[in-house]
Amino acid sequence: LFPTLFSPLQVGDVTLKNRIFSSGHDTVMVHDGAVTDQLVDYHRARAVGGAGLIIMQVAGIHETARYTYHVLMATDDSCIEGYRRVAEAVHEHGCALFGQVFHPGREIMESQDGALPVAYAPSAVPNERFRVMPRPMSQAMIAEVVAGYAAGARRLQQAGLDGVEIVASHGYLPAQFLNPELNVRTDRYGGDLDNRMRFLREIISAVREAVAPGFAVGVRVSGIEHSSVEDEPTDIVEVCRRLDADGLLDFLNVTEGTSASRSGSLHIVPPMSEEAAYTAPAAAKVKAAVSVPVLVAGRINQPQEAEIVVAKGQADACAMTRALICDPDMPAKAQAERPDDIRACIGCNQACIGHFQAGYPISCIQRPETGREREFGTLVLTPKPKDVMVVGGGPAGMKAASVAAQRGHRVTLYEASGRVGGQVLLAERLPGRSEFGGAATNLQSELDRYGVIVKTRVEVDAAMITGERPDHVIIATGATPYRPHLELDGDMPVVDAWDVITSNGGNTPKGEIVVADWRGDWTGLGVAEMLAREGRKVTLCVNGYAAGENLQQFTRVSMLRAATEAKVRIVPHARLFGADDDTVYLVNTLTGEPIILDGIDGLVLALGHQQNDTLLAELESSGISYTGVGDCLAPRTVEEAVLDGLKAAAAF
Ligand code: SF4
Repeated sequence: LFPTLFSPLQVGDVTLKNRIFSSGHDTVMVHDGAVTDQLVDYHRARAVGGAGLIIMQVAGIHETARYTYHVLMATDDSCIEGYRRVAEAVHEHGCALFGQVFHPGREIMESQDGALPVAYAPSAVPNERFRVMPRPMSQAMIAEVVAGYAAGARRLQQAGLDGVEIVASHGYLPAQFLNPELNVRTDRYGGDLDNRMRFLREIISAVREAVAPGFAVGVRVSGIEHSSVEDEPTDIVEVCRRLDADGLLDFLNVTEGTSASRSGSLHIVPPMSEEAAYTAPAAAKVKAAVSVPVLVAGRINQPQEAEIVVAKGQADACAMTRALICDPDMPAKAQAERPDDIRACIGCNQACIGHFQAGYPISCIQRPETGREREFGTLVLTPKPKDVMVVGGGPAGMKAASVAAQRGHRVTLYEASGRVGGQVLLAERLPGRSEFGGAATNLQSELDRYGVIVKTRVEVDAAMITGERPDHVIIATGATPYRPHLELDGDMPVVDAWDVITSNGGNTPKGEIVVADWRGDWTGLGVAEMLAREGRKVTLCVNGYAAGENLQQFTRVSMLRAATEAKVRIVPHARLFGADDDTVYLVNTLTGEPIILDGIDGLVLALGHQQNDTLLAELESSGISYTGVGDCLAPRTVEEAVLDGLKAAAAF
């Protein structure tokens, strides 16, 4: 099915068995700058699953490169042992391993655990996201940092890695030197392109000299930075052409964006609103200008997309990083011509980059086993198959059912509605969120694959459970919209957000609508956009400081942008307390002042949801073995619900 994708690729002296790789991404599985057992297991799982190459996350090469408290460091020889363990783990499965040498330059957080940051940069131009005023680098500082790159690369080779990537992408230090808006130096490191390339060239030469022949050396660049409102300040294709002509590189790796991109960092880890393989044209331009292999990263989630990119010659290999986070066995399944068995990444960003931003280890909302390889990485078959009844076909129930069946239990899942999927079926109906439905499709196919019997339109009560006498019951009955006490007088139509979504807005009056949001998640923001796109004038009143405040940052940016384009008016710090015929009454939670919105035709409530836990209460004294999972315990995100399901199914 994928002849080009599964052909070998020569990168310098390193032969990759296929064209699928995991690009460098922070995992928050580093302790004190060093590799942990958790990180070894994480990478081993991707190697076992068939990736041709893993590029490990960035490693700081100088003390001033410590941009988060969980960055890997390669500043002294103590890092070698940890890297060696990863190399041994992945080599055992025929996967090559590269590392990344890294300095963030000006992109340092303002404070790291009380440490006082010193941000190095070519010039005193701060990044509007990180805001630290950087210190222009002296010649001595440049020399010290260049030596750090070389020493870091040497350590990676000593550890048994196959190659190294110099991170000049995403607006990090080498990219800052290349960019004439950030590099305003008047010495030999600033000015024309050759001068601005001097720092990167010195790094490449120093790295090359520090490592033995046969060790692959490459550079990662952002083909388009999206950082300026006008033309791209740096001609990256020309930079790549000149680097290639220098003859010191074995590969180039192309992505897009910087953390200061004008579109709000969307390109660091693009959300589902970005097209698949959207970076391939930028990679193709680099490929046309150079002789070395070109790698590409940018929302390539399916082997079908990767095959097209490689077969068209836009790039030689594809980073499928989130696809591998979501399903580490994706390459093996694709090669075995079982693409339907692949759990496709939906680009939600919640548990991969979302966890990085929250400061805890990487995972996947669809696959909580990721990042928990020690606990759940190996499926344990049951010695005693049981009859298991799962009540509720949302994400928690589906995950519990599929894992229990995979373990060898006999599982029947009952769903009260006509279709399994739960709230995922709501989220997928919102503008720009259709891919979210993949989470339900993936779980549905797992139910089929592992032989779960699914019965829809069946209301299960305690009497039915008692009658069937299963060995174990999993209660996943979900939640219903929360309706607090509100002062509602008059004829104002009041509808719940979930009903608005289910009816595609059909149950909501035309005209002027207020959406009241107490959760700061996808519901209020998505419904507001949906109604606005249908021609209504929408005011979104959020209880917190901002719409979507509980969403992953890049998803929030993307949804806020879409709502702004749809002309949704957003009122923060506005708590709903009532409505009458055509007026909605709120209070400003900062000042206590009333907010009175007149001339309103309808009120939509996105106030969260509450547990459907009746069945749980009824089973409490029944003597039947049961577990509750998902929203019926307490409001859960999809990620938390799926994790609940996994834990429940692994426990009996
Ligand atoms: Fe993909 Fe979402 Fe999983 Fe991240 S959390 S790997 S974006 S499905």
